[in-house]
Amino acid sequence: MSSYPLRVAVVGAGPAGLYAAEALVKGHDDVVVDLIDRLPTPYGLVRYGVAPDHQKIKSVTRVYERTGNHERVRFLGNVEYGRDITHEELRAHYHAVIYSVGAASDRNLDIPGEQLSGSHSATEFVAWYNGHPDYVDCRFPLNATAVAVIGLGNVAVDVTRILAKSVAELELTDIADHALPALADSNVEDIYMLGRRGPAQGKFTTKELRELGELVNADIVVDPADMTLDEASTKLLEESRAASKNVEILRSFSEKPLEGKPRRVHLRFLVSPVEILGDTAVEAIVLERNRLEERDGGYLAAVGTGEREVVPAQLVLRSVGYRGVPLPGVPFDDKSGTIPHELGRVLDAPGGVPIPGAYVAGWIKRGPTGVIGTNKADAMETVGTLLEDDLPAIDPEKASPEAIDRLLEARGVRVFTFDHWRALDEVELTAGEEQGRPRVKVTTVRAMLEQAGLAP
Ligand code: NAP
Repeated sequence: MSSYPLRVAVVGAGPAGLYAAEALVKGHDDVVVDLIDRLPTPYGLVRYGVAPDHQKIKSVTRVYERTGNHERVRFLGNVEYGRDITHEELRAHYHAVIYSVGAASDRNLDIPGEQLSGSHSATEFVAWYNGHPDYVDCRFPLNATAVAVIGLGNVAVDVTRILAKSVAELELTDIADHALPALADSNVEDIYMLGRRGPAQGKFTTKELRELGELVNADIVVDPADMTLDEASTKLLEESRAASKNVEILRSFSEKPLEGKPRRVHLRFLVSPVEILGDTAVEAIVLERNRLEERDGGYLAAVGTGEREVVPAQLVLRSVGYRGVPLPGVPFDDKSGTIPHELGRVLDAPGGVPIPGAYVAGWIKRGPTGVIGTNKADAMETVGTLLEDDLPAIDPEKASPEAIDRLLEARGVRVFTFDHWRALDEVELTAGEEQGRPRVKVTTVRAMLEQAGLAP
């Protein structure tokens, strides 16, 4: 290791970045970390992705807080990679850089009508109701009576649940203040969760699926005919406990009588959206019936049968997965939407050679899969690799926290520190307490900076 402390920059303060920072300083007294994020607030998708009615999942921030408070970890919020600092500058000031920026975009369906007004990505809707500063001005046609949610993952379940819940349930959460009145005025009656494959291929986790059957405000509708599985899916149930549990729950949904609740959640299987209809705004979605076909390796693929139906819907939320976005100056594999790597070392191309001092962790490394905890092992692998490597030396003049502070100050960057975050956190928690809610989020960067006395 170098003669001065090993300086590591971690870009992206979501779960992967925080686990990486923790692994870097824990048991390594000679490592210091600067945790950089373009937003003033840390915790990434735990703050802006995890559903507001899933507060228990958010309690993981207590662990992150310890890392943020660590004497050898600095949080540099409101610093945007690519705008305020470049890869070359990071490389000059740190022995190593870990990119843990997540997957900021979403995948498209590439079908006609996808650009109509009222057709959105679920990630946009999630970021909006969670108060992400970039999404506060979004508008969704919540006067819709029917909504189509495409996909059978946990994000699809989250948005369905939020659309189905009553305002009395939502107002007990930390949902953004701008989302609450919009959802309170919603006319939504029917929410269609549309899966291109069968009940055994749902990507949702069992706990999240079960929750859909417990909604106070919505009945769950599953066609019993959909619960007759093909041979390959039946075999899958013997191999996968998760799939078998999910199918058991779905079967119980299909047998449950409707209770006449104000809303209905319809779970549909073996249907693919092929077109979104409407003049300027979404009016309906065209679905093609699928069958499953086994491919090499046992994957059961959805294959269209040509049989079509039209389902009226005035809001379409596609929830078919997140997608990584390229970072300036860092290699990117467009096919997978990730940074090419080997055990966390950034490679110049997929299967290529390592770029000295550059590392990657989290969704931008392995793709947008897994739960929050998955990022711990992922980040630990990267940190293990980093600590084993012979890292390039850096100019001692630049090897100090002050050098990076000077650089950012010269650019007029208003750095939001962990102390600032702690103060903002307190303000949000206190406001929440007054309203009987977990917190009331501050949702604009300007208001966050004002609170910290950093506003221009
Ligand atoms: P996901 O789990 O990958 O689910 C994506 C869904 O979209 C799948 O059902 C997939 O079907 C479907 N899909 C993909 N392309 C499609 C297309 N062209 N047409 C129709 N359907 C299509 O992704 P996600 O829901 O965005 O979740 C991302 C990760 O975050 C997951 O690991 C998830 O578990 C996690 N997460 C966890 C929680 C929680 O723990 N509570 C909450 C939110 C998210 P196929 O299977 O056929 O590809």
